[in-house]
Amino acid sequence: MERFRDAILSGASGEELAALPVPESYRAAFVRKDETTMFGGLASQEKDPRKSLHVEEVPVPEMAPDECYVAVMASAINFNTVWTSIFEPLSTFGFLERLGRESAWGRCHDLPYHVVGSDACGVVLRVGSAVWEWKPGDHVAIHCNYVDAQDPAAHDDAMKALNQRIWGFESNFGGLADFTVVRANQLLPKPAHLSWEESAVNALCNSTAYRMLVSHNGAAMKQGDVVLIWGATGGLGGYAVQYVLNGGGIPVGVVSSPAKAKLLEGLGCEAVLDRGEKNYQFWADEHTQDEREWRRFGKDIRALVGEDPDIVFEHPGRSTMGASVFVAKRGGTIMTCAATSGYMVEYDNRHLWMKLKTIKASHFANYREAAEANRLIRLGRIHPVLSAVYPLEEVGEAASQVHHNLHEGKIGVLCLAPEEGLGITDPAFREKVGEDKITMFRRLGA
Ligand code: NDP
Repeated sequence: MERFRDAILSGASGEELAALPVPESYRAAFVRKDETTMFGGLASQEKDPRKSLHVEEVPVPEMAPDECYVAVMASAINFNTVWTSIFEPLSTFGFLERLGRESAWGRCHDLPYHVVGSDACGVVLRVGSAVWEWKPGDHVAIHCNYVDAQDPAAHDDAMKALNQRIWGFESNFGGLADFTVVRANQLLPKPAHLSWEESAVNALCNSTAYRMLVSHNGAAMKQGDVVLIWGATGGLGGYAVQYVLNGGGIPVGVVSSPAKAKLLEGLGCEAVLDRGEKNYQFWADEHTQDEREWRRFGKDIRALVGEDPDIVFEHPGRSTMGASVFVAKRGGTIMTCAATSGYMVEYDNRHLWMKLKTIKASHFANYREAAEANRLIRLGRIHPVLSAVYPLEEVGEAASQVHHNLHEGKIGVLCLAPEEGLGITDPAFREKVGEDKITMFRRLGA
């Protein structure tokens, strides 16, 4: 891969890249099938991604006709990398086995190692015989919706297709590597004003936040809507705040420290709740929720913005779902896409039905939504929330930071890119957008 890296860094043309031989192996971060029980008996927080994530050479997989080979310049940590690396809530090798049963090409994914990573950006090296939209040399960001169009439901919304998967989580050959093979319909044009690492962190969380808040498949937020955002300086939350502000909404951001509160204010969110300082105890014990604490939380929101949230941007799950349903406005929507603190959630159904609230599920984004979200980044209207950068060798440490909630925004990972700051091909537009906005999370992060 060094030859590809050197060629890309020296500005080689697509023809020159296409003329270089594809190597037999590449450097990748993966978990091993024979280690899925290595953390047996340990609590979640004690399971250490630094022990389960390996960075070694793996063979280059075959490329299907609708796929492309991409040299990965940078990637990112997502929470799904944490899930895979601690083998929770289940081992992702089951996903690979299922994909392996789907087709001959699916079988390539069913291996004793799982290359992780659901975000990346880089340069196209080869395209399969059925690919018409992309060519070697294209600078691309990669989104993680791994789906084809064979199920009729996919033509309404690809997220509803029976065989919809998340690349690098439910499929193999993910982005935390120097090289990847992806479907052509995962490619997006790289934002020219951003560096490799700034471009690599957006697709998964930015597209998810777009679908949850902007898309008609989500809450379709309108001007003036009050939106309560949990984890408002986290991966999803950092984009959600920007969408609410862009769309004329009123964000109420929840964070857990004064440093995160300061960062959130820097983003332009005026209504901030520090859950660390407020010390909400929504659960009195393991089995019982405390409605008085929901009320205290609701009063705090009203004190900040004068009304209840039209939309709740929900992802912590068990810890917060009861409170989220309670504080939503009459007729409001609770958008949920995750359950970081536990997926067996509990809420008081009376508050849902009597006040005509809706719980609406969301999951990543279809190609159109991912492209729209990427377009907003390319237009400089949504900015990356990159807060830290690690080399690929330290992917375990980077995942550990996210596992223990020690990060803000997104953690980028340098793969083939030898240093930060490379890959910007439109510096004039970068200047117009503003360095301060693009690097907000790096500058103001704790
Ligand atoms: P991050 O860890 O970057 O951010 C989540 C934030 O949520 C944390 O920073 C923390 O903020 C807050 N949080 C965590 N636990 C709790 C809790 N118990 N109570 C209240 N707040 C909490 O993760 P992401 O934003 O990237 O992802 C969040 C979740 O969404 C993960 O479970 C992830 O797997 C899932 N996800 C799902 C997607 C989908 O398509 N379905 C796509 C992307 C993510 P603070 O401490 O400041 O309050």
